[in-house]
Amino acid sequence: MRVLITGGSGFIGSHLADTYLSRGDEVFVIDDLSTGSIENIAHLKANARFHYTIDTVQNTPLLAELADGCDVIIHLAAAVGVKLIVESPVRTIETNVRGTEVVLAVANKKKKRVLIASTSEVYGLSTDVPFREDGNLVMGATTKGRWSYACSKAIDEFLALAYWREKKLPTTVVRLFNTVGPRQTGQYGMVIPTFVKQALAGRPITVYGSGEQTRCFAYVGDVVKALAALIDHEEAIGEVFNIGSSEEVSINTLAERIRTLTGSHSEIVHIPYSEAYEEGFEDMPRRVPDTSKIFSLLNFKPETTLDSILKSVIAYHSGRQGS
Ligand code: UDP
Repeated sequence: MRVLITGGSGFIGSHLADTYLSRGDEVFVIDDLSTGSIENIAHLKANARFHYTIDTVQNTPLLAELADGCDVIIHLAAAVGVKLIVESPVRTIETNVRGTEVVLAVANKKKKRVLIASTSEVYGLSTDVPFREDGNLVMGATTKGRWSYACSKAIDEFLALAYWREKKLPTTVVRLFNTVGPRQTGQYGMVIPTFVKQALAGRPITVYGSGEQTRCFAYVGDVVKALAALIDHEEAIGEVFNIGSSEEVSINTLAERIRTLTGSHSEIVHIPYSEAYEEGFEDMPRRVPDTSKIFSLLNFKPETTLDSILKSVIAYHSGRQGS
């Protein structure tokens, strides 16, 4: 198969490229390196079945050419990271909405199979935990920058599903729940790489808010397998799937586990959200996926435990300390 991965130099995209190449497929990556890194794909450059272009997906003629040459398109290119989103809302909205518009429009010309990556952020302030794909999305106020990300991704979802209903473009939407693992950078605020780097350096571990908020962290190696399996599955067309782990952990517990596993003496400090992000910032108190839909279709459940994930991330950052 010839696979086009937008955002393929990013954390998830580069792992997905690894998966396809190891299956014997041919991979084409387009990435503007805005949050991705060439380092993530450096190990793939020698592979004759790997090709990459540094450019934005909004370059329509280029994307059309790439799409025409491929069998499937996995659209991962997006603005990511709550910090980046709060600081650069214009970039977030425009990148997410325009990028997906172009991807779907070019895919539609030759009816290519498309998978659009969305996010668990779309559940917003919903307290109907665990979140089901057909549950209500509860958006916060438009004055709170954070929700622009959720809203822009919800528009991407609507558009992908509309292309299926109206134009019979075979699309699938996935909502990713806190995907983590090696190569994820802490630069855009993600909690696990941030805590691991702080612990390894002996700096304070910065828990935002009370630390009682919970998340479920899924290992990137498991998540990319699910993406590849979904795009191969006819019954996934026109559907939305949660992809995530059911192992729920509070951020306080996470900080303690990382401190223990690194053997660090870092102090754990609590920082108000207003200082960490912006005045009036709203967090999601619990974010837990209902994963029964993807399980019944693919028998898929993430296999990697939080402790194994943390060990792999710690090993990755230990090898890079100071870089
Ligand atoms: N968080 C934290 N300290 C940090 C970075 C993040 O306590 O240095 C918290 C953040 O407020 C959120 C959780 O960890 O409650 C997960 O944050 P992340 O940005 O990784 O993903 P999110 O679930 O917010 O998309």
